[in-house]
Amino acid sequence: MKKRLTCPCGEYLRGTDEDDLVEKVRHHLGERHPDHDYSRDEILFMAY
Ligand SMILES: [Zn+2]
Repeated sequence: MKKRLTCPCGEYLRGTDEDDLVEKVRHHLGERHPDHDYSRDEILFMAY
């Protein structure tokens, strides 16, 4: 299961599971990258 993602801006994001990670990434995108909107599949594709 993928639970980690490093944003291109350098921010390291980590969730307790895939759902939690997606939620955290979306929150980060909304705060720091409001012009970027990724789907769940795209987020999980970048996760590891
Ligand atoms: Zn970022």
